[in-house]
Amino acid sequence: MTDDSNGLFATATAQFNRGADLIGLTPSIRSILSQPKNEIIVNFPVRMNSGDYEMFRGYRIQHSNILGPYKGGVRFHPAVNLDEVKALAAWMTWKSALCDIPFGGAKGGISFDPLALEVDELERVVRRFTHALGSNIGPDHDIPAPDLGSNARAMVWMMDTYANSTGATERQNVKRIVTGKTLETGGSPGREKATGQGVVFCLQHWADEVGFDLTGASAIIQGWGNVGSATGRLLQVHGAQIRAVADHRGAIADEDGIDAFDLTDWVAEHGTVTGFPAAGWIEPADFWKVEADLVVPAAIENQITARNAGDIRAKVVVEAANGPTTLEAEAILTERGIEILPDILVNAGGVVVSYFEWLQNRSAQRWTIDEVDHKLREVLWKASDAVCELREELEVSSRRDAAYGVALRRLQTVYQQRGIFP
Ligand code: GLU
Repeated sequence: MTDDSNGLFATATAQFNRGADLIGLTPSIRSILSQPKNEIIVNFPVRMNSGDYEMFRGYRIQHSNILGPYKGGVRFHPAVNLDEVKALAAWMTWKSALCDIPFGGAKGGISFDPLALEVDELERVVRRFTHALGSNIGPDHDIPAPDLGSNARAMVWMMDTYANSTGATERQNVKRIVTGKTLETGGSPGREKATGQGVVFCLQHWADEVGFDLTGASAIIQGWGNVGSATGRLLQVHGAQIRAVADHRGAIADEDGIDAFDLTDWVAEHGTVTGFPAAGWIEPADFWKVEADLVVPAAIENQITARNAGDIRAKVVVEAANGPTTLEAEAILTERGIEILPDILVNAGGVVVSYFEWLQNRSAQRWTIDEVDHKLREVLWKASDAVCELREELEVSSRRDAAYGVALRRLQTVYQQRGIFP
């Protein structure tokens, strides 16, 4: 398979194998972890407002539950496919293991464009998908969350559908069937910004380690959705300057900085960064060439490729998205001395705060935003410390390989202690 072929599971497998080689993962555990445990595909009909019925295809890939219930988001996007969801599910396993939270890994999705539907049609799609998944998901079995194209509102529909299919005496006890809900329905303070907050905590840890000052740093960000915009706003609060932003419609740049809060308001109204009056328009192909200390891909996979990796002029690529860098691009960046902060570490803030939401639901509590932020920082700094320690111990420079090494050692220990049934 050649680079940029979008064989995402092949990329995920190559990364896994590098980490497994690094720590000398036992062959039996390597073969167990190289495939997801369950691959669930559901085809279901939904009545559209025209009166016609349309068939939808949904996925739930359960990669591993050796450390705890399957956990991961559901993606609503026309390009969702089995290969992609398998890769995303495996990445969830590594994220949870690396952060030492008691969850496994899963991912799901529906291949459709949520923006092309009326709200009531979208609601029927989400509810019917939840119903089709049936007992394949559960509050202590497999816990979905938002991902690209889905949001808190969709999570509330999922929760409500699941609760209504649950017996009356258990109904109050299933709120944690999904995380990333609205605050009012049992969500956690800080979940909305959690992934972006985690990106910034990991950056602080890295900056401290290498002696870099985030105040006054410059950044370019690809994607201004939940993750990109939260990262941009938090970076700005820390005194960094956003020099360019791109999305699926175009790219904008301003040497003197783009205001992240104004841009967020603009995108909320117009659905895209293009046309933002306080910045100039640039060719999308020129986006990666904009000089900045930090390059933050925060959109979809396979964005930094062999074609543009040579253009990047930055100290560090911060993988806020899942799988944004192809294998070939990673080799080019490494060769050029550009560091990569790997996705399974820097974007794990989302699932960590999902864990906090699940804990709050389990004990019918509500934590404060300060508690959530404090605990999130603690988890991510501990994971970052573990990655630094393994780099030293095994004398490995790749932060990605070391992050996999930490995750795989934890999984290996648990397999060794539990044994492999029967
Ligand atoms: N979709 C997010 C991710 O890719 C969050 C998953 C979760 O909270 O379970 O990490």
